[in-house]
Amino acid sequence: MEDWRAWTVKAAEWGMDYRARLRDLPVRPPVQPGEIAAKIAPSPPETPEPFEKVFADFERDIAPGMTHWQHPRFFAYFPSNSAPASLVAEHLVNAIGAVCMLWQTSPAATELETRAVAWLRQAFGLPDVFQGCIQDTASTATLAAVLVMRERALNFTGNQTGLSSTPRLRIYCSAEAHSSIDRAVWFSGIGADNLVRIPIKGPLRGADPDALRALIAADIAAGYKPAGIIANVGATGVGATDPVADLAAIAREHNLYLHVDAAWAGAAMICPELRHLWAGAEHADSIVVNAHKWLGAQTHCSIHFVRDPASLTRTLAAKPDYLHTLGLSEVVNYSEWGIPLGRQFRALKLWFVLRAYGLEGLRTMIRNHIAWSRALCEKLRATPGFEIVTDAAFSLFTFRYLGVSRANVDDLNLALVEAINADGRIYLTQTRVDGAVAIRFQVGQFECTEADVMSAYPVITEIAARL
Ligand SMILES: *Cc1c(COP(=O)(O)O)cnc(C)c1O
Repeated sequence: MEDWRAWTVKAAEWGMDYRARLRDLPVRPPVQPGEIAAKIAPSPPETPEPFEKVFADFERDIAPGMTHWQHPRFFAYFPSNSAPASLVAEHLVNAIGAVCMLWQTSPAATELETRAVAWLRQAFGLPDVFQGCIQDTASTATLAAVLVMRERALNFTGNQTGLSSTPRLRIYCSAEAHSSIDRAVWFSGIGADNLVRIPIKGPLRGADPDALRALIAADIAAGYKPAGIIANVGATGVGATDPVADLAAIAREHNLYLHVDAAWAGAAMICPELRHLWAGAEHADSIVVNAHKWLGAQTHCSIHFVRDPASLTRTLAAKPDYLHTLGLSEVVNYSEWGIPLGRQFRALKLWFVLRAYGLEGLRTMIRNHIAWSRALCEKLRATPGFEIVTDAAFSLFTFRYLGVSRANVDDLNLALVEAINADGRIYLTQTRVDGAVAIRFQVGQFECTEADVMSAYPVITEIAARL
């Protein structure tokens, strides 16, 4: 008989030891495709194996093959923080193993979720008309928003009739918008051809409101039915941010649904001095902010604020007999606010994080990340052979190495990213800006220090010089 208590303690201790030695590990593991699979038995065992062997195999074959997202020198993609307080919460959530689909299937999870979302609403300075829930991902929240756009525009008939004989709906977003928006229009049946891209302008690379007005007018004249607008606050490529207030005014003029995708940068709105960057979000119909990116709670913890929960549940809720909670018509059943039926207990980690670090602690982290990102950006700007492509949007900037000959700059920068990541001391990713390759640098790891950020400078410049 295995001693599960001892294994549980060992797993928790392994995790703390792992976190403690992260700085000494290469951020991206030096493995080739197929290398890990070759170490795993091709078929499952018929009889129990000693757990000691299972755990040893994990330590030897699996852990070293992970890309270490909690590494303090992870500057790629976006942060996916798992603060220690969140890690502790997840141990408890795992132990409880509840399915939090209805109030009755987990009253405390439901009521804590309501409170935790209200705490964040206050922390972000949003008005109290917003309610919300915690979705698994921003992709789910945005899909839900697009489904509500569709149903509102069709007077809530689309679920019943399908779209084959309805007017052709149009959704508007900027050229910088995240791919989750493309997928939401595919899955909603609205179709990629009806996702209209608003041209961008200005240093924030935000949607041009005049262009949007013209697009909507042309669509109406051509017999389309505009349904909604999706605004970016800190889009993934270079942190593009739309003039949300202008988009909100256009949404109001045409009675369109407005969804704000602030999945990454929304976390920064706990800092009052940054809120001008999403001014107008208070007029949105829904907003998504991933607490699991830059706020310390580990994935999945996507905060989905909604102005009118009734239109969300009218779009998404099914009420088969086996889900009826007799005599409990006044309670909230959060599965009706999302796409999956089963849902994890996601609020505990958020509650632990907010209490363990306080808003001031989290604000200090975010302000530091922004300041350190800017310092590195200025250092690279002053370095011959480098150019800054986009200035720091929140804590994300992009740069490019021009080399000596300034030839094949795209290939040179792709080679530079790969060489940096193979080196292992830091981890970066690339994007394209106006068609040309740029290297992204994002500061957001919960435990990164100024020294971690500045240590990227010699790594980047030394490796570039060797190319
Ligand atoms: C990360 C991100 C998403 C997708 O988030 P998921 O939670 O992984 O679905 C969408 N939009 C923006 C702006 C993002 O940064």
